[in-house]
Amino acid sequence: MNETKPIPVVAERSNTKCPVCGQRSYSQGGIHPQCAVIQADAPRKTHLAAEKKAKAVAAAVVRKLDGERQLLQETNEAYRDVGEPEKSISSWSRGSRATRPG
Ligand SMILES: [Zn+2]
Repeated sequence: MNETKPIPVVAERSNTKCPVCGQRSYSQGGIHPQCAVIQADAPRKTHLAAEKKAKAVAAAVVRKLDGERQLLQETNEAYRDVGEPEKSISSWSRGSRATRPG
């Protein structure tokens, strides 16, 4: 019996490896579309993370200042009760910083 085997349509398999995941890629350019997205998003992601962190630090500073302002108000109310002159926030925070150990 004479049998002829079919000729393969794709003669050679692409041996291109994706630079992101290291798997074989058949996509044009040799990189998976999903890996290209990850690669393109990396700098934006780090930028957004840094921005989020900076906002969190700023919010913490604002919360701390609000706490100090409230403490100053309470201190001034106590001063008023004993008849001493009130202190401003600048002199008060300078004083609290000077007494801080370290
Ligand atoms: Zn990939």
